[in-house]
Amino acid sequence: SDFRPSDFERLAILGRGNGGTVYKVSHRGTSALYALKVLRGAEPAAVAEADIACRVDSPYIVRCHSVLPTASDDVSLLLELMEGGSLDSLVVGHGGLPEGAVAEVAAQVLSGLAYLRSRRVVHRDIKPANILVSRAGQVKLADFGIASVVSRAGEHCAAYEGTPAYMSPERFDTERLQDGHADRADPYAADVWNLGVTVIELVTGRYPMLPPGQTPSWPALMWAVCFGEPPALPDGVASPELRGFVAACLQKDHRKRATAVELLAHPFVAGRDVASSRRALRKVIQLRCS
Ligand code: ATP
Ligand code: MG
Repeated sequence: SDFRPSDFERLAILGRGNGGTVYKVSHRGTSALYALKVLRGAEPAAVAEADIACRVDSPYIVRCHSVLPTASDDVSLLLELMEGGSLDSLVVGHGGLPEGAVAEVAAQVLSGLAYLRSRRVVHRDIKPANILVSRAGQVKLADFGIASVVSRAGEHCAAYEGTPAYMSPERFDTERLQDGHADRADPYAADVWNLGVTVIELVTGRYPMLPPGQTPSWPALMWAVCFGEPPALPDGVASPELRGFVAACLQKDHRKRATAVELLAHPFVAGRDVASSRRALRKVIQLRCS
């Protein structure tokens, strides 16, 4: 379509990150609301993000309506507005979510990941801040800032990228990735690990990889992820189905980790009561959204 930046009025700032700023905007003609993500500078990363964000098309992924033409080098993505904001804001300062709501989040995130896999896209930054919700309880993946397309040959040496706090063991393992061909990590498996960490965080309300209060420095995280036990749910807070689900996501060996499609059939997800899970999620969103 032929939207122009001047067609939109900036109403508020929704988020700020490394690459740029996300605004809540209103279209002057129609009063329709959108999110506008402005990435500064004509960096290759911004162009790559726009390319992937606009190429994917799924109910489980934040829609990118267009890339607005700008006079400067900025790249402006016109995105579907998710009025519920991101999952981190639902949890931070509120505590964990009920299991039903988490099962609903997991189901929709897995549907998004299964779709991305079908398009050969690895997200690489699955975490609560990059999972957005609508007031109606739809859950969508956002932020393709470091996503990448897996080549036909399957090679994909992307260690050391992503939010270190959520990185999987194989992504820290540069030695193996550099020596090349023998044992390449399945690039899609990293997103499943991140989902496992995210699910624990949603259930407990707390980032699980490090003890409370410890700053997530690179060495501390690398030690915990590569040499420690996978993060686990505390005793007594979770059903056996939820425990099994988290364990399947957090297999340290990526070859043993379940895939998104397999996890969609896991009892925690497939066995949930869909109507009551959706109700639980909607209720949390309505109560916790300012
Ligand atoms: P990067 O990780 O590349 O630096 P970023 O983190 O700055 O990117 P996003 O994650 O896309 O960028 O957006 C930052 C925050 O803005 C999100 O965590 C979310 O709170 C808010 N946000 C982003 N897109 C939307 C949207 N479509 N609707 C509502 N809120 C959004
Ligand atoms: Mg982000």
